[in-house]
Amino acid sequence: MTTPGGIVIVGGGLAAARTAEQLRRSEYTGPITIVSDEDHLPYDRPPLSKEVLRAETDDVTLKPAEFYEEKDITLRLGSAAVSVDTDAKTVKLADGSEVGYDDLIIATGLVPKRIRSFPDLPGIRVLRSIGESLALRADAGSAQRAVVVGAGFIGCEVAASLRKLGVAVTLVEPQPTPLASVLGEQIGALVTRLHEAEGVDVRCGVGVTEVRGTDKVEQVVLGDGTELAADLVVVGIGSHPVTDWLDGSGIELDNGVVCDEVGRASVANVWAIGDVASWRDSVGDQVRVEHWSNVADQARALVPALLGQESSPVVSVPYFWSDQYDVKIQCLGEPEADDVVHVVEDDGRKFLAYYERDGVLVGVVGGGMPGKVMKARSKIAAGAPISDVLS
Ligand SMILES: Cc1cc2nc3c(=O)[nH]c(=O)nc-3n(C[C@H](O)[C@H](O)[C@H](O)COP(=O)(O)OP(=O)(O)OC[C@H]3O[C@@H](n4cnc5c(N)ncnc54)[C@H](O)[C@@H]3O)c2cc1C
Repeated sequence: MTTPGGIVIVGGGLAAARTAEQLRRSEYTGPITIVSDEDHLPYDRPPLSKEVLRAETDDVTLKPAEFYEEKDITLRLGSAAVSVDTDAKTVKLADGSEVGYDDLIIATGLVPKRIRSFPDLPGIRVLRSIGESLALRADAGSAQRAVVVGAGFIGCEVAASLRKLGVAVTLVEPQPTPLASVLGEQIGALVTRLHEAEGVDVRCGVGVTEVRGTDKVEQVVLGDGTELAADLVVVGIGSHPVTDWLDGSGIELDNGVVCDEVGRASVANVWAIGDVASWRDSVGDQVRVEHWSNVADQARALVPALLGQESSPVVSVPYFWSDQYDVKIQCLGEPEADDVVHVVEDDGRKFLAYYERDGVLVGVVGGGMPGKVMKARSKIAAGAPISDVLS
């Protein structure tokens, strides 16, 4: 059976919820259907590695069920989309039913990468969903020693939360420092210092080659031959955009759904938003952003374009944050690992750094310096010469 029409959003996370809200705010009165493979109402993911893991909250729901009723937004939860026919304008669901659309918005997010050579043992976890966070929290309750594989943002946050829960943590990262590929080694070294001060055993420049155990995880072997006792392993090595269900649809895919600067995909009446979407930026590059505040910015650009209203590309200065212990690491602008980094404040725990490219301030990264980070916004937006900022 095919149900007709309107706007169908596939994915039930932040991007789906924000887009549906933005559509109603823009006075779109036609049908909106959110199709999600999760049973949960759309929810927020940042707390999953922080407050939820530390058992400080279980409530991450973005909006209550009544919101969707009031706004006449149909939720089809527990329904995975398995394919799309862009000629017939239908999405096929796992139960065999079909949903017709006038416009389709793809918001299927990411799925964590796994390490295929690891055995299928209890005590090996990844983290993307509320279920995975609660399962990790349950494991952490009885764990003595954890190994976190990968020191990106999620790995670092999980290490911090596990320490708060009293678990001994080793953080293993093949690159020279945590966060090296995103923020560079200079800031990575400050992040190492933060974790070491909290008792984390940070092992950089080495990978995990093997996980051993009989009925559950018992040991992790590193590339340098070190054998670490462990009863919990968390793999945080990045994620893939969820596009497998779009294979063969004709929609252009390349590290996500390829879109123009307002979220329009390569096939008519198909759009994409959030972590799964690779949008064209102001200089013509395709960029896929995996951060929370980007989603609302994109929704404000996509919705008017879809409704045929005046729309302009995202112009705000990009922002994201990461909470590790009592230190909020905030990144404003577009800092990159190979920029010139000027650390302008460092009290042994908190820090502030300006990122310079071609003589211009392109980003600021602060650890525990919220006011000073935000003050740099107008200078980044204006492309201020670094000499002015440092003087
Ligand atoms: C643990 C964690 C911590 C984070 N912390 C921060 C932070 O501190 N700061 C920050 O800026 N960002 C953070 N982020 C990133 C931020 O949460 C994401 O940018 C945001 O969730 C992106 O929203 P999204 O809707 O694009 O994707 P998601 O939130 O992943 O939602 C995608 C949804 O689509 C569903 N789906 C997938 N495939 C299908 C299918 N075939 N059919 C139907 N539904 C499907 C998924 O189950 C999911 O519900 C964090 C992310 C995680 C996982």
